[in-house]
Amino acid sequence: MHEVMLTPSTPDAYRSIIRYLTEGKYAFHTYQIKSERVYRVVLRGLHRHTPLHEITRDIEKQGHKVRGVTNALHPKSKMPMPLFFVDLEPAPNNSDIFNICRIFYSEVRVEEPHKRRDVVQCTRCQQFCHTKSYCNRPPRCVHCAGEHDSTTCLKSRDTPATCTLCSGDHPANYRRCQVYKDLQNDARKRTYTQEKRSVDPPPMRASAAVAGSSNKFPILYHLRLPATPR
Ligand SMILES: [Zn+2]
Ligand SMILES: [Zn+2]
Ligand SMILES: [Zn+2]
Repeated sequence: MHEVMLTPSTPDAYRSIIRYLTEGKYAFHTYQIKSERVYRVVLRGLHRHTPLHEITRDIEKQGHKVRGVTNALHPKSKMPMPLFFVDLEPAPNNSDIFNICRIFYSEVRVEEPHKRRDVVQCTRCQQFCHTKSYCNRPPRCVHCAGEHDSTTCLKSRDTPATCTLCSGDHPANYRRCQVYKDLQNDARKRTYTQEKRSVDPPPMRASAAVAGSSNKFPILYHLRLPATPR
């Protein structure tokens, strides 16, 4: 089995490659186009019950296009917190939102969201670093490693699970699976070096070392080429 990674330079190229792969029934996954990705910030200082449409209206009055506002819930109690996530449509003035200091008669603070440190796992094929909306690989069951959607699994409760990643007797989303633990460690090391690097002024070409990041449309995707399309 061969894995190939492609980095098209324009959105049109991206779309025609996707069309070709989909029609040829190739197994592949992709990522969201960066130019379509929302710009997310965190808003602090508002009352927890501030109506979302008022927040939207106020931010739009201050020159931004809002895709959505959500109220953050406490992870345990699920109660609303005085914290909101604001998703802006990508635009050149996105970072101006950090200058906003009043919304809906309150003083607010706009912050960057915490970076996600967990490696994401696809719930369709159980592999990492992409999500099921961008996955076109054959499904793998999280319970039994079979080639079916996890929701249609017929494995009985008393037969042990099989991990499709390491063949161990646990489900594929088990956080102590060695494959996951190794990846997570690698990702931590990478974030650490990136954070260290971002303290020093980075040389202009620093990001060019990362595949695709020097590109205007850094879309990467891996695809598996079978001998013949399925
Ligand atoms: Zn997948
Ligand atoms: Zn199954
Ligand atoms: Zn495992």
